[in-house]
Amino acid sequence: MSAVQVIPERSGTAFRLAAGERLVVIDPRGEQVADLLAFNADDTDEVISSGRTLDYAEKIWLTTGDLLYSNRSNVLLEIEEDTVGRHDFLLTPCSYDTFHHFYPGLEPHRGCFGNLVAALAPYGIVADRIPVAFNCFMNVPIDAETGRLRVLPPISRAGDHIAFRARRDLIVGLTACSAPDSNGGSFKPIHYRIEPAA
Ligand SMILES: [Zn+2]
Repeated sequence: MSAVQVIPERSGTAFRLAAGERLVVIDPRGEQVADLLAFNADDTDEVISSGRTLDYAEKIWLTTGDLLYSNRSNVLLEIEEDTVGRHDFLLTPCSYDTFHHFYPGLEPHRGCFGNLVAALAPYGIVADRIPVAFNCFMNVPIDAETGRLRVLPPISRAGDHIAFRARRDLIVGLTACSAPDSNGGSFKPIHYRIEPAA
């Protein structure tokens, strides 16, 4: 088993994940969101798509056994394990603009969006190519009558994790989210590890 990598609070990273390898995203302290993006490593115009994925899944809450599709309808990742069962695939990564919109009294932060842009720049991926991320551990309940969204603290506890199997060679972006409401009001690190192909 590979070593655990640490994403410090309010930061992000990017790395290659080969087809067959497994990415385990861990919430080490609990109540911390991690935004995940995955691009086809051979053609970064192909990227995970919330719209395709939710359409094919016929639901908005994804967990073990569900597939994350690309904008070209290829499966990029499969969720193999999930100790939480509540994640979000509707909302865009938090950003300066998110802070101006929701937190006008707080010092703005570049957020997951800025952290992803910086981490993915070495792979030639620019800001306008950043789509809706799969937001691990993000808790966004929906009123079934009105469709109203709320962002509540994650239900993840210390040591909870979600594991993804890569179906293609990928470039993955991953953050420790920077938005107060998404993370129960405090910012914690995210851990991850990459396990070899089975
Ligand atoms: Zn965020």
